[in-house]
Amino acid sequence: MASDSFSSLSISKAQLANLESLDYKKMTAIQKQSLPYVLKGRDLIAQAKTGSGKTAAFGIGLLEQINPRFFGVQALILCPTRELADQVGKELRRLARSTPNIKLVLLCGGKPFGPQKGSLEHGAHIAVGTPGRIQDHLRKETLKLDGLKTLVLDEADRMLDMGFFDVMTEIISQTPKKRQTLMFSATYPSQIKKMCRSIQRDPVTVTVESEHKAGVIDQMFYEVKKHERNNTLLALFEHYKPETALVFCHTKKECDEVARFLSGRNIEALAIHGDLEQRERDQVLVQFSNNSCSVLVATDVAARGLDIKSLAAVINYELPRDPEIYVHRIGRTGRAGETGIALSIFTESEQFRVKSIEQYLKKPCICDVYASLDREPGFSLTSPMVTIQLDAGRKNKMRPGDILGALTGEAGLAGSQIGKIDIFDMSSYVAIERSALRQALNYMANGKVKGRNVRARRV
Ligand code: AMP
Repeated sequence: MASDSFSSLSISKAQLANLESLDYKKMTAIQKQSLPYVLKGRDLIAQAKTGSGKTAAFGIGLLEQINPRFFGVQALILCPTRELADQVGKELRRLARSTPNIKLVLLCGGKPFGPQKGSLEHGAHIAVGTPGRIQDHLRKETLKLDGLKTLVLDEADRMLDMGFFDVMTEIISQTPKKRQTLMFSATYPSQIKKMCRSIQRDPVTVTVESEHKAGVIDQMFYEVKKHERNNTLLALFEHYKPETALVFCHTKKECDEVARFLSGRNIEALAIHGDLEQRERDQVLVQFSNNSCSVLVATDVAARGLDIKSLAAVINYELPRDPEIYVHRIGRTGRAGETGIALSIFTESEQFRVKSIEQYLKKPCICDVYASLDREPGFSLTSPMVTIQLDAGRKNKMRPGDILGALTGEAGLAGSQIGKIDIFDMSSYVAIERSALRQALNYMANGKVKGRNVRARRV
């Protein structure tokens, strides 16, 4: 058995001390399997998902390669969504604390181009971003990749699902042939295999068994007639009464319709999909992550990179085509040893999908009919918190402490009535306990935060 201690790796003493200060006591499974190869400069195909510690699995390796005295991009990490790029950027910054003078730039769409260009001109060592924006920078020649040593494709399967194949190919064509290519993907469809063959050299493949222990997620399947889907969904809420849930649909239109249907029946739900503007998307994600929204209705693509705690339930309004996606979806519940439920609705014509899930899981799927469920009539689900938006953000030098200070000081709220605070460039979002909403808004109508008047409204 190889050691799972970071000290068994050939990495700098400063990095070891940093990992200790981050309280990373031992390697996660993906780190243990990948890092020895990544540190040797090998190409890698890793099947691992968010939450497995995969960022450090490539991050520790690429940081060892970086020469801080060369002011050019030496590592590029392509991510499918801005949220994932943010998360990866944050984790890499933590890991880079041990290496002085390393600069990291985030290159994502939905953000102004100018500051990104400025950061690149000042010499960034690591770039993390989404394919579209990185392609823009390459075309405008604000980004050069001739000094690149490490290329990471994070959640490569999702990038392909989102139609980024050509963009990725164009980006890769502008990197040196002699580079290390690390491919991370939760699933391994044929398009990915093909891509690996064309862009990697003799890659090592590592797979980490799903961390979900058997029995942690209770799975149930409900066969229905097509027109019964909505009523079944309602019955599932009224029977299982989950405090939080993620509902998966295939299309954007369906997400909107299902969210509207649930909200109309006292189960507050928000939809998230690719048609939302960045600002709307941010607001939905903020509300879901700060407990102001208990039910999110999403497409697979939109649910990627969601920074979420364990959910009480995952509900498949429709079954996905691929059993791997099913497993990926239900992995959002029953995390960290908690019990979760995964409920799936299917019609007769989708029976073959249940079969393929059975084959994939190597166990039978338990099917039931929704008519047999005891329902609590009048069941309603509202979130414990509500979100208020303040019209001041990072650009106004607003920090979470300033907002917390104002609300617990003059406004008179208890610290426990205030939840997560998210600061964006031009605005900030604060989760407030429902019962304290009036008090917070009343204060904001006249009071000040950091010495200035700030307008606040409920999202
Ligand atoms: P990731 O899969 O990269 O999104 O990482 C999931 C979380 O695990 C991040 O919050 C990391 O900070 C944390 N993490 C990564 N590696 C370790 C480790 N070896 N020990 C403890 N926490 C870790």
